[in-house]
Amino acid sequence: MSQPNHIPSQQFQTALLGWYARGHRAMPWRDENATPYHIWLAEVMLQQTTVTAVIPYYQRFLHRFPTLQSLAEAPIDDVLHHWQGLGYYRRAHMLHKCAQTILRDHNGHFPTTESELLNLPGLGPYTAAVLAATAFNTAANVVDGNVERVISRLYRIEQQLPAARNTLRTLAGHLASPTEPRLYANAIMELGSQVCTPTSPQCLICPVAQWCQANQHGDQTSYPRKAPKKQIPHHTATAWLITDPSGQLYLQQRPATGLLASLYELPHSGWEPKSEPQHAPLALDTQTECGSISHTFSHFKLTLNLLHTEVPEIPASNRYAPDNLPALSTLMRKALTHALAHI
Ligand code: SF4
Repeated sequence: MSQPNHIPSQQFQTALLGWYARGHRAMPWRDENATPYHIWLAEVMLQQTTVTAVIPYYQRFLHRFPTLQSLAEAPIDDVLHHWQGLGYYRRAHMLHKCAQTILRDHNGHFPTTESELLNLPGLGPYTAAVLAATAFNTAANVVDGNVERVISRLYRIEQQLPAARNTLRTLAGHLASPTEPRLYANAIMELGSQVCTPTSPQCLICPVAQWCQANQHGDQTSYPRKAPKKQIPHHTATAWLITDPSGQLYLQQRPATGLLASLYELPHSGWEPKSEPQHAPLALDTQTECGSISHTFSHFKLTLNLLHTEVPEIPASNRYAPDNLPALSTLMRKALTHALAHI
């Protein structure tokens, strides 16, 4: 690693901000009418999801919940329903809880500093920093995966992620602009996502190439160094597609806490790694196989074998029409779609 101070921060900022001012992607949460609520919502959605994928969800969500108050006052089932397809449903639960906290404790207004924002439920260091910088233009060190990549290449950091995170953060802080926090945060994240990309960085058009150690050594894509991925376990389970003669489906709601909390699902034999074996909820006669699906969670892989059976009647509390389904997880939407196509 070169010396941390080898990059003159003011010249670096000038080059980066000049490049950003010459053109960048338009995003609905970056336009002049965007409020802190819009920026916060977008940032939460963007965790684990790309900008292109997020935009339709963002617009649909805002159509239903145009203000923080409307989100805070909505039932959680409704929020989950509008989160469907984005995955990582804990984010939707925390979004809802955070909106309620802001309404109750802050009179419906976001606090404006990084430290106050960090006290809100569900806001980690990144989200607090990006909100402070981009919603309130207050000084903050914004470091996402894109910024980590840029910094690790600029300085050729040999330490592997995730252990290198503190070092990268400190170096990022040396470069960040204290006078233009909003523009700087947007610019460095844009540089990481559009120019300093993971596999084909465009160093020839990079505004900060003159200070980049990895560019000088020609080994850009070797950075950031990463610890080898751990193998994750593989589980197999069964899910039942239960229908009645009119085509209605049997669904059950998951507990209010834990993985995929409060979402609906097909009954199953217990698919989580440590779950107790579960039985079919009704007496099932003939069961026919309708294929299987695979799904990867962050900590395990799952193969879900699908069986179909028809029963004379489904209890009213579990009976759902296929065209009016409650909020399902990505796993269960995949399972249901596959099973329905194969019965
Ligand atoms: Fe990334 Fe290349 Fe720019 Fe270095 S010169 S920051 S590797 S795009």
